Amino acid sequence: MLKPLSEKAMNLVPSVTLELSALTKQLKAEGKDIVSFGIGEPDFNVNDEIKQAAIDAINADYSHYTDVKGIYALREAISERLLRENAIEYSPENIMVTNGAKHALFTCLQALVSDNDEVIIPQPYWVSYSEMVKMAGGVPIMVETAFEDSFLPDAEQIAPLITEKTKVLLINDPINPTGAIFDKNRLSQIAELCVRHGLYIISDEIYDKFIYDGAKHTSIASLGDEVKQLTVTVNGFSKTYAMPGWRLGYAAGAQGVIKAMSSISGQCVSHPSSITQMAGIKALRMDQGFVGEMVKEYDRRRKYMTGCLDKIKGVRYIYPAGAFYIFTDISAFSDNSAQFAMSILKEAGVAVVPGSGFGKEGFIRFSYACSYEDIVKGMERLTKFLSR
Ligand code: PMP
Ligand code: GLU
Repeated sequence: MLKPLSEKAMNLVPSVTLELSALTKQLKAEGKDIVSFGIGEPDFNVNDEIKQAAIDAINADYSHYTDVKGIYALREAISERLLRENAIEYSPENIMVTNGAKHALFTCLQALVSDNDEVIIPQPYWVSYSEMVKMAGGVPIMVETAFEDSFLPDAEQIAPLITEKTKVLLINDPINPTGAIFDKNRLSQIAELCVRHGLYIISDEIYDKFIYDGAKHTSIASLGDEVKQLTVTVNGFSKTYAMPGWRLGYAAGAQGVIKAMSSISGQCVSHPSSITQMAGIKALRMDQGFVGEMVKEYDRRRKYMTGCLDKIKGVRYIYPAGAFYIFTDISAFSDNSAQFAMSILKEAGVAVVPGSGFGKEGFIRFSYACSYEDIVKGMERLTKFLSR
């Protein structure tokens, strides 16, 4: 008889977004007509200049291991990006390149969290946060937030959760699944609280270029030297450059933390593909106009989708100021979001992600990272389904 798997493996909940994506692909392969508002995966193709940079890297024999922290020129380009776009000054020594933001978050939690350390996470949260904390041996502690406040946490809600065991606050800005953005004042109060208690902050800013209606994104590490020392800023290429399958992300923080992360990665993953890294340099250094064009298109989709939702009785949602998701309250229809999402998939042919995966029942998440045509088709189906 086989001995059981590790407790770690058995306690783990698989990624609901990736599972749903696999199911959607399977149904499509079987010939079913499915519109995917499920996974948050940009439908755009990779820019030709970035593709060419990868081809050039192959032809120039960039086939060897790189520094575990990533190719120096890429870390230089990231350092310049963080200064230009996020007003944070980091040298390439403070930066580690990773296999997507996911690997950055995972490695950072492994570096910071000891057994039973507590990690505070505002709810709703991106599906992988709680499981990554558990894999690091930590305990996720959720911050209850209010719909009326776009589910944004504030310092007053976080403060009572801080104990001797609290080690990290994990935030996402703009937020997946709500599309909400932290305003500077709220962020400053949270930064002050973390500095007062010496808490590390992991700030996942992977959607920082997806901001609408002239809103402004602030990086928490830019709010002062003390908070910068405690913060690890995480970002990646999956969303901004529509390169999710290329697996490229990064983390920037204090040298001690980055060094520990690099030791951890050096014993398991090493570094992202050398070819992908060379393409990443091109992505960061080229004219960024095409990113703005993509964001404009997301905005057009966002407006269409919210316009449709406004006409459906019994539905309310958080008006998204950023990212590419709409977190929608369906409690008037069902209190079991997983079942409800399955009915929408089977009966309306639209894939959506249940709120339960984000720690929030009674909600479902729509992604508008798919074509405008699909959005029109999917909203027609959803309107019919929800108006029955
Ligand atoms: N953080 C958030 C909030 C996300 O939505 C995602 C999903 N792509 C990631 C991190 C991970 O992205 P990747 O590993 O593709 O860079
Ligand atoms: N982050 C995206 C989402 O939330 C992609 C899926 C994933 O990486 O989990 O749908």
